[in-house]
Amino acid sequence: MTHDDCLFCKILAGDIPADIVFESETAIAFRDINPQAPTHVVIIPRQHIATINDIGVEDQPVVGSLFSAAREIAKKEGLSEEGYRVVMNCNAAAGQTVFHLHLHLLGGRGLGWPPG
Ligand code: AMP
Ligand code: ZN
Repeated sequence: MTHDDCLFCKILAGDIPADIVFESETAIAFRDINPQAPTHVVIIPRQHIATINDIGVEDQPVVGSLFSAAREIAKKEGLSEEGYRVVMNCNAAAGQTVFHLHLHLLGGRGLGWPPG
């Protein structure tokens, strides 16, 4: 898949609308179109990285910034104390459907473990 075909690159470019809740130099976040919890935000790097398997050593600051974003968004959503979950699916067996790295932030309800 090329960047031109990438749904999240299109959101980054403003070609597809999204409910953006966070922006930084390295990452943006928007509400998931099919939310699985009262708060379900997708956090993505501005840089196109397809999967966890494609993360290079040089990408570590960018990937780390996704977690900083999660912390800030959770605080804004009032989830810091009660708790929340971040999930990153890698490839088909884990349920990855969009091949642009993303962290799901889920909260606002009790979350079972182990996940399905
Ligand atoms: P994953 O299955 O881990 O690849 O996650 C992809 C997520 O992107 C899913 O939770 C989808 O509901 C979400 N998604 C797909 N299209 C959009 C969109 N246009 N705006 C917001 N979220 C989307
Ligand atoms: Zn992309």
